[in-house]
Amino acid sequence: PETAEGRAAERLRFDREHLWHPYASTLDPVPVFEASETRGAEIVLTDGRRLLDGISSWWCAAYGHRHPRLVAALERQARTMPHVMFGGLTHEPAVRLGEALLEMLPAGFHSIFYADSGSVAVEVAMKMAVQYQAALGKRTKSNFVTIRSGYHGDTWNAMSVCDPEEGMHGLFGSSLPVRFFIPHPKSRFPGSSLTEEPETETGTEFDASDLEPLAALLAERSDDIAALILEPVLQGAGGMRFYHPDFLKGAIELCHRHGVLVIFDEIATGFGRTGEWFAMNHAGVRPDIVTLGKALTGGLMTLSAVVTSKNVSDVISSGTPGAFMHGPTFMANPLACAVAAEALALARDLDAPTLARRIEGKLRTGLAPLAKTDGVLDVRVLGAVGVVETAKPVDVRRATPRFVEAGVWLRPFGRWIYAMPPLVSTTEDVKRLTDAMVTVIPKLL
Ligand code: PLP
Repeated sequence: PETAEGRAAERLRFDREHLWHPYASTLDPVPVFEASETRGAEIVLTDGRRLLDGISSWWCAAYGHRHPRLVAALERQARTMPHVMFGGLTHEPAVRLGEALLEMLPAGFHSIFYADSGSVAVEVAMKMAVQYQAALGKRTKSNFVTIRSGYHGDTWNAMSVCDPEEGMHGLFGSSLPVRFFIPHPKSRFPGSSLTEEPETETGTEFDASDLEPLAALLAERSDDIAALILEPVLQGAGGMRFYHPDFLKGAIELCHRHGVLVIFDEIATGFGRTGEWFAMNHAGVRPDIVTLGKALTGGLMTLSAVVTSKNVSDVISSGTPGAFMHGPTFMANPLACAVAAEALALARDLDAPTLARRIEGKLRTGLAPLAKTDGVLDVRVLGAVGVVETAKPVDVRRATPRFVEAGVWLRPFGRWIYAMPPLVSTTEDVKRLTDAMVTVIPKLL
């Protein structure tokens, strides 16, 4: 094609014909838009339209896109050592990032494993739990318990602790290892819902009966269970639910009483998103293992980390075969580590949790009209996460183009339309986002 428009149309044709997209069909693809640039809180399309990135590109671009400090860190590292293997070698970016992580996490974390994506971090954490129990001579303790409707990724083990019955991986159900599931806690995160009456069973007090299914399971089956894995406080892609932090305290106590480890998956919640550095800080607790990803690099590079207590790494290392059996080719990739170390410094300088709490107030005000909209079941806000839960599933094919017309980028799934804007979003940015949601959502119901 001669013209820029013609060439863009040709690229879209190739994409439609040959490229898989996440959770998509090649025969009947969801319409895609071509992005040519990202800038701060915005995604710029090839046709020049500028969209506010309302979900921080799947929750990773926490400090806005293409932040100059992160780009500079990437360029600096690219000039000296973009990659080197981590087997038998170490480097300054890996160490600097490790120091920053241990400083930011609550006290008591000690050993860090770098992996390349959130799903792989979950695999690593689960393997660590199994090796830990085996090292203690408890070889039968190899299964897992999790909260129903969670989301931990798309790899085989990660899928097994999502919800094989109700969740997106249903098709694989019969070929996945069978895990133990407990119901989602009924007690909501205090004050998060804009719709709920406080006196209802899902009110603001923690209802200790939420812990009974876990207590009953552990009393019977703890000999089979290596670890509890859950998303603390905020269940993300499985339903965007916010539950009471006291659940975490009780769950850790129960698990430890039965020699079961606790893994918190903070891939979505880490680095300030919920108004605390980590969701675990809402409860003042520390699990044995935490998985981190997404905003770890401020959204520039793919990197994840699994951080454990000294006890976990010591026990694993003291068992057979005397090593933790995982080692990705791109482990601790220096480019990703250098960017992540700078992202953590940036998060500190910006005070990411405070930014999230400021956005929380703006999301509450902006989304309030939707709490009274027919077809909306619940509107809830926690930190810089705003969720509109609808009575019926929303068709993403209809929703996305309408949001694009309204100047925002959102990607609803199922019955959830959610906003997770970059933490650097201005008051005007958040208003643009919530105004678009208030205008578009009623037309989708
Ligand atoms: N765990 C949680 C809580 C997530 O939200 C996600 C991604 O949405 C993952 C794990 C998987 O991460 P990734 O998509 O980087 O593999």
